[in-house]
Amino acid sequence: MLRVICYVLCENMDKMEKIVSLCKRRGFVFQGSEIYGGLGGTYSYGPYGVELKNNIKNLWWKMFVHDREDIVGLDGPILLHPKVWEASGHTTGFNDALVDCKSCKKRFRADHLVEEATGQNLEGELDKMTEVIKKEKINCPVCGKSDWTDVRTFNMMFKTEMNNVSDDQESIVYLRPETAGAIFIDFKNVLDSTRVKVPFGIAQIGKAFRNEIVAGNFIFRLREFEQLEIEYFISPKEKWEKLFKEWLKLQEEFAIKLGANKKDLRQSEHPQEKLSHYSKKTVDIEYKFPFGFKELYGLAHRSDFDLSSHMKASKQKLEYTDPKTNEKYIPHVLEPTFGLERSILVALLSAYNEEKVEDGDRVVMKFPKELAPIKVAVFPLLKNKPKLIKKAREVYDMLNTSWQCEFDDHGNIGKRYRRQDEIGTPYCVTVDFDTIEKDDSVTVRDRDSMKQERVKVDELKDYLTDKLK
Ligand code: ATP
Repeated sequence: MLRVICYVLCENMDKMEKIVSLCKRRGFVFQGSEIYGGLGGTYSYGPYGVELKNNIKNLWWKMFVHDREDIVGLDGPILLHPKVWEASGHTTGFNDALVDCKSCKKRFRADHLVEEATGQNLEGELDKMTEVIKKEKINCPVCGKSDWTDVRTFNMMFKTEMNNVSDDQESIVYLRPETAGAIFIDFKNVLDSTRVKVPFGIAQIGKAFRNEIVAGNFIFRLREFEQLEIEYFISPKEKWEKLFKEWLKLQEEFAIKLGANKKDLRQSEHPQEKLSHYSKKTVDIEYKFPFGFKELYGLAHRSDFDLSSHMKASKQKLEYTDPKTNEKYIPHVLEPTFGLERSILVALLSAYNEEKVEDGDRVVMKFPKELAPIKVAVFPLLKNKPKLIKKAREVYDMLNTSWQCEFDDHGNIGKRYRRQDEIGTPYCVTVDFDTIEKDDSVTVRDRDSMKQERVKVDELKDYLTDKLK
């Protein structure tokens, strides 16, 4: 049994290593500041990574903003007035539990250390964690010794300085640790400038920064990342349980659109005693990553906590007036939150396939077509034949106005197919001698089935439009 578990774990981690390597080799994701030895928890997105990332953002924006009448968008700043974070409780409460190994001086998240060693979730219980770490003699994952400091809190917000923040010249500002803050403080601006009516949502995509004690698992836990968040405002009298279920379903649907298999998703509800005092319910949507089931997205009922806190701290009215009854109230809110990098990781893990084919093995990224960084690659059969190149360029120019395309004349056709398979291009179009001498047709090769079809050049755009739907 143990051997089977080890085998599955090794195989999974092996897949993770292969993905990290493919991401670097093929220009998806690079370590941040790599030439200076790297900066932990930061990554760059290469030419294909940035396309994949933008396609995921566009898919989300379409699904939750453009396709819905009841949700509008916002793009707030990263730097918010420091009072925002006082009112929201982040300055005092946005903490993780930190423990240091006295022997090798490495730092760890105490709740993760305890959970990995004992299976217990003691998040938020500092004294209990100190006790368990010492009693169970948990070993340091780096040096193997068991010589620990007490567990203490560590605020995860990055601080920076800014001139003339306010009259009192206070200069410390924070890089936002989540995007939601900007939504709440612009709630009134959105109400006053649009025709939204409760229930309605405000959606935002943007960077967030957290000084994580331990970043890792590639792009899973980062110090700089992006969130896709919605604050969905409802009446305090609304029967929220049904809506809550619907949001969970939509969040899972989005993960499935990325390529996730439904059986790799599960919901984990926060126990009542661990909920913040204002939350009626919080559920994490977890995904089976190679390193175990971990949080992919979250959904929380946050009552009127945020609007009320900002109303009190800013002394501005953040109420809503019901247009039918004239009743004034502070809306409650459901908060579905999505991590962009964790979404990218799910798309990469789900797309990765190794296959035996006639002429050897191939690695193919079977991204949903909507997400593929390049939709069509165009090849002249040979590099040194000007007539072929000219015709292939014409085909490329024709297609590139509709889709993200790539022109490739390097190496033999087999190698070009392998390269496009590894970046997940759904269709490859080859211009050969028959195209120019005989039938004005090209060969279109399908990424997944590897089947090839001859298609007339003047029918090619319609053919691909149909296929890429
Ligand atoms: P975790 O328990 O994994 O630390 P969290 O509960 O702190 O996550 P939230 O505050 O709910 O996360 O953030 C919303 C979403 O943002 C998460 O569901 C996740 O997708 C993403 N996210 C949070 N922290 C990080 C991080 N350090 N790196 C990448 N994505 C993150």
